[in-house]
Amino acid sequence: MPEATERPIRATGGCLCGSVRYTVRGELRDVIACHCPLCRRLHSHFAAYTECDSADIEIVGTGKLRWYRSSPVARRGFCSRCGAQLFSESSDKRRIAIAAGTIDEPTGLRLTRHVCVAKKGDYYEIADGLPQIAGRQSCE
Ligand SMILES: [Zn+2]
Ligand SMILES: [Zn+2]
Repeated sequence: MPEATERPIRATGGCLCGSVRYTVRGELRDVIACHCPLCRRLHSHFAAYTECDSADIEIVGTGKLRWYRSSPVARRGFCSRCGAQLFSESSDKRRIAIAAGTIDEPTGLRLTRHVCVAKKGDYYEIADGLPQIAGRQSCE
């Protein structure tokens, strides 16, 4: 049997109003900033996500968590009380992306690259010296 509940907590976080909280026990990927139009519409600017195995996250306050089906194969999770964008999950539910800004500090994470920069907004520049990838498999 997996001893998931006994593994150390890697991160905690939640939405602005505190209605939705989560705990991650397991590896978190480095943070990637996505500049695609879908992420920009959803996050009001570009999006920054880390990611973990879906089995490694426990979400509480799911009564306020709502899911927006952003494509036939993915959905985005947000708090229906304060509007915070929290999660992005593909239909296979094996991995879940977590909006980096919702993680309690210290996060122990680093932003490592930008993706979908070919579709970035026209009102800003990316000048932090991190790798920039023109595209990737499009966000959904
Ligand atoms: Zn909230
Ligand atoms: Zn995106």
